[in-house]
Amino acid sequence: MVTEKQNLLDLDLEGLRNYFRSIGEKPFRATQLVKWIYQQGVSDFYQMSNISKGLHAALAQHCEIKTPEIALEHASGDGTHKWLLRLADGNCIETVFIPENDRGTLCISSQVGCSLNCSFCSTAKQGFNRNLTTAEIIGQVWLAAKQLNHFQHDKRAITNIVFMGMGEPLLNYEAVSRAISLLLDDNAFGLSRRRVTVSTSGVVPVLAQLAEEHDVALAVSLHAADDELRNELVPINKKYNIATLLAACKAYLGERPRDRITVEYAMIDGVNDSLAHAKSLIRVLEGIPSKVNLIPFNPFPNSDYRRSSDQAIRSFQDRLMGAGIMTTIRRTRGDDIAAACGQLAGQVKDKTRRSERVRMVEVR
Ligand code: SAH
Repeated sequence: MVTEKQNLLDLDLEGLRNYFRSIGEKPFRATQLVKWIYQQGVSDFYQMSNISKGLHAALAQHCEIKTPEIALEHASGDGTHKWLLRLADGNCIETVFIPENDRGTLCISSQVGCSLNCSFCSTAKQGFNRNLTTAEIIGQVWLAAKQLNHFQHDKRAITNIVFMGMGEPLLNYEAVSRAISLLLDDNAFGLSRRRVTVSTSGVVPVLAQLAEEHDVALAVSLHAADDELRNELVPINKKYNIATLLAACKAYLGERPRDRITVEYAMIDGVNDSLAHAKSLIRVLEGIPSKVNLIPFNPFPNSDYRRSSDQAIRSFQDRLMGAGIMTTIRRTRGDDIAAACGQLAGQVKDKTRRSERVRMVEVR
């Protein structure tokens, strides 16, 4: 009988301890292994020098450390890297690295495509295929770390992780949760909790679970301050409206008095970028410790939306700042390699056949 090998990237430290117990090994081996994998970047069991010869052979026989494969790598003039990664089933996802002076942020995907169909996002136009496994999620980080020589230097290349690639992380909670454990665990990547950000369009029930089980930064894709407009831009709003979502955000912060929610707001010309829209935003955010990140809309083929003018974005920012809301404008990075927010499209075998429907509408 051929049994599949256990991909160790699918297990967090606790899972790995249980796995070792199940094969009659001491659970402390799990810590050793996790350190080799996530602190040293070693994937060859025979190089793990504090592990016995017998265990080397057993691991090599029954386990593997397997990441997605790099299908394409793009480096942008501004230092941004984008990788198109091919999964074992042929689907592709994207991962983006954005270096800045004092940090390096890796933007990772959580699903193949996305089921939420936000009207201004190019991933949405690709439809949805499936959730990523933990190995496929943490594998993006491990692979990028390898490519960036992260493991060789004391000054680590990747300092921040954002779940802002393809997919809705809270619709793939179990796999994302294990990946978060590995990102935060001191024996694994060991990032501080403020440097790991989960971005959600507002899957309210799962937000409560995240609040209970993990301590990470939260970003919410709001994009509109009234329900009618948000229903159009972020259709999950029909299920969990703005009031419900913001109440959940407040509850999330309940245990974290010094934290703030990041509110993401794409600036789309003539759609949500007037001063009246800024005023509504100020009103709904009252009493919610938050900072706003304005994202100049990133165009993609076959989208009717346009980016707001710089002037409109600055006026919007001024209005929010005037009301005491810390507001930043996201610098558009990786534009030349389609790596900016909402431009990640991968190559999705679309099960929803949404991409086909979109194409049909276009040819009519
Ligand atoms: N599903 C998650 C994470 C993915 S998107 C979420 O909705 O938060 C990361 C951010 O980019 C979200 O705020 C998303 O709304 C925004 N975004 C999507 N398409 C965009 C576009 N074309 N231009 C600017 N921002 C976009």
